[in-house]
Amino acid sequence: MEVLRSIFCCCSSSSSGSHRLWSSGASDKNKAMVEQLQRYGVIKSGKVAEVMEATDRGLFVPPGASPYYDSPMSIGYNVTISAPHMHAACLELLEKHLQPGMSALDVGSGTGYLTACFALMVGPEGRAVGVEHIPELVASSIENIKKSAAAPQLSDRSLSIHIADGREGWPELAPYDAIHVGAAAPQIPQALIEQLKPGGRMVIPVGTVFQELKVVDKKLDGSVSIRDETSVRYVPLTSKDAQLQAN
Ligand code: SAH
Repeated sequence: MEVLRSIFCCCSSSSSGSHRLWSSGASDKNKAMVEQLQRYGVIKSGKVAEVMEATDRGLFVPPGASPYYDSPMSIGYNVTISAPHMHAACLELLEKHLQPGMSALDVGSGTGYLTACFALMVGPEGRAVGVEHIPELVASSIENIKKSAAAPQLSDRSLSIHIADGREGWPELAPYDAIHVGAAAPQIPQALIEQLKPGGRMVIPVGTVFQELKVVDKKLDGSVSIRDETSVRYVPLTSKDAQLQAN
């Protein structure tokens, strides 16, 4: 089954379209997309399903693109919004660390889609923080979120997006129960490990040509364990100049 082969492919250059989970594209297809991800076992948690249903991907994908196809899509600036199955997989991996009242950091927040999902997971008494180094993406992500179910959390400041180099995290609001990194780092940035709360979890793709999605758990005594979840393909976590010059 094509979907299973592509299940952990985030930013693949594959554009055959043969692994589309769904083929017709009205905005009410968001629910069908979530149901399909449940059927394929990518979404297991009822809460993750609820939050992805409430957060219409159509509001986050640029006009002309097909928001409900299970594929990464260009958002300009040499980067992509991750595929729905990859967003779902990361929400599943982080679910226990996205409980109401908890604090989450989304590095490389891009369109703002996953930051909005994090905000709905942790609720208004929690905190969802996005960090993105392209100012234009930060501006458009804020506009996207304003149209979404997470809009009230922008107003009450339990959701915020910041222009910064995500390799430094966002120390002002650290520590975090959950950290998600949406771009592949050559190695795990020390600042992000430091900003993880004891008991917290980080999900981060690591590598250049070959990448592994790593799950980093910080134990209550402060020690860290790291395991490989699966092979992935993400755009690089890099400097703004290097990203804009890439082809
Ligand atoms: N998770 C987002 C975007 C994934 S693409 C989504 O699905 O919409 C990766 C994002 O990381 C891009 O928006 C890119 O601009 C950003 N990025 C890459 N390196 C970065 C860095 N050093 N600091 C902050 N953002 C970075």
